[in-house]
Amino acid sequence: MSLPRSRHGSISHEGRLIEYQIVHRAAVTRRIHLEINERGGLLVVAPRRMSVRDINKALQKRSQRVTRFLAEARAHKRDLPALNYRNGERHLFLGESYPLNITERSGKRGMVRLDGDGFKVVAPGQGPENVRNLLIRWYRRQAQQQFESRLASFAGLAPWTDGELPAMRLRLMKRTWGSCSSKGIITLNPHLVKAPAECINYVIAHEICHLREHNHGRAFYVLQEQLFPDWREFKDHLKQKGHIYLHA
Ligand SMILES: [Zn+2]
Repeated sequence: MSLPRSRHGSISHEGRLIEYQIVHRAAVTRRIHLEINERGGLLVVAPRRMSVRDINKALQKRSQRVTRFLAEARAHKRDLPALNYRNGERHLFLGESYPLNITERSGKRGMVRLDGDGFKVVAPGQGPENVRNLLIRWYRRQAQQQFESRLASFAGLAPWTDGELPAMRLRLMKRTWGSCSSKGIITLNPHLVKAPAECINYVIAHEICHLREHNHGRAFYVLQEQLFPDWREFKDHLKQKGHIYLHA
């Protein structure tokens, strides 16, 4: 893989200049997508084949949307505390927050356990990076269990699965909760395990509907309405609070 090249540009909206940086990622092949960087600057992830001129034209045409995206993304960023992975810091699981209770013991194997009092973490070395890695692994294991059992329940309710458990993969993603490939493999974001259980159910029901209907046409919504009638509420919750769960 070659290093991502980066280029810069700017557009204007209502007399204000919006500067951006263009990056390419192998996964982005069809459309432009927007992100913000650590300093709150605009990142435009664009297909490699798209020229700088076309990127600029596309952004300028949607300057209103770009402005709204930036305002929202910056506000979300402000809401989020910097995570330090220190004692007492609160972390989420299934919509509840629990404090970290960390013991550093060199030579010991790392361990994370969640009970009513919070996360007991035994870190094999010093420093927040150790704790962060242990937690990421813990969340992944929980996600595997939580998602598998919910996938089985919803597949059981969806006649088009013929009672078969769909294939599932986990992948840490920055903005996506789940997806369903044309081969019927459901990919889910382990960060989702921090959200309330009903949000997990919503995403899983949504992806199971994609096993039958691959796009978001009318037929898809009919299925989703049947399988998970409250989908609007939890879709909305993820839209409002999702950035908190994606923060790690
Ligand atoms: Zn979908």
